[in-house]
Amino acid sequence: MNKETKTTPYPLVAHTSMTQATRIKVSGVTIGGDNFTIMAGPCAVESRNQLKSIAEAVHKAGAKILRGGAYKPRTSPYSFQGLEEEGLKYLKEISEELNMPVVSEIMDVRYIPQMLEHVDILQVGARNMQNFTLLKELGLIRKPVLLKRGVGAKIDELLGAAEYILKGGNKDVILCERGIRTFEDTTRATLDISAVPILKKLTHLPVIVDPSHATGQSDIVPALALAACAVGADGIIVEVHDNPAQALCDGSQALSPEDLEILIVKLKGIAEVIGKKFN
Ligand code: PEP
Ligand code: MN
Repeated sequence: MNKETKTTPYPLVAHTSMTQATRIKVSGVTIGGDNFTIMAGPCAVESRNQLKSIAEAVHKAGAKILRGGAYKPRTSPYSFQGLEEEGLKYLKEISEELNMPVVSEIMDVRYIPQMLEHVDILQVGARNMQNFTLLKELGLIRKPVLLKRGVGAKIDELLGAAEYILKGGNKDVILCERGIRTFEDTTRATLDISAVPILKKLTHLPVIVDPSHATGQSDIVPALALAACAVGADGIIVEVHDNPAQALCDGSQALSPEDLEILIVKLKGIAEVIGKKFN
């Protein structure tokens, strides 16, 4: 270890003169570098038909990665908890049909084998960002991890959490700013937009933004998605539903497939200005 690595708490994730931007390849899609990647889909997988129709729509709109929760971290134990393994099966099936990689949340170390079998990117949700046992195990796998910032986590703590995964040997970590808890309660969370350029300065890992959970309101999701692109994010992960009023989870923040299409056209304009390309 050189002097520089000894003095930083996250030597493996730190951006130094020796590192270049990490690019993560997932079945033909490259995340990071000068690419801008759209990950989109429902908050939760609700049925095979629901997932299929939303997946086809987001694919057509230009999303490259399909999102969908099979294990849902809900505030109330009485809320829909996800279809669990059945949901993972639908994700895999539809991913293969559309040739579109999928990202889904891993809630516990017990589900790692199941997740590895069905999904391409394992998402660590905000509530689990400092589940160090989980992070250590994810360091041992050979699939990318999408690590979301905890609602009360500092940037330093997010980078420390990422370091756990890299320390285990897994170099493919994507960081996600998804809003933090502040005194402001007009929105579900407060998107810390400055976290994006700060993270880009501090780490070589790709950084994406989740404007859906940051706002909780579909009508302001596009504005924040555009802002994310303008400040240099490597992509967005956004919730889309074809019938938001009937969604079993997070309907109020879901874009319609048409909204997503319009958003992507605008994102392409911003991406061009800042030198990012759509993959
Ligand atoms: C989600 O992506 O569905 C989710 C629960 O996100 P977060 O962990 O950011 O709340
Ligand atoms: Mn959600």
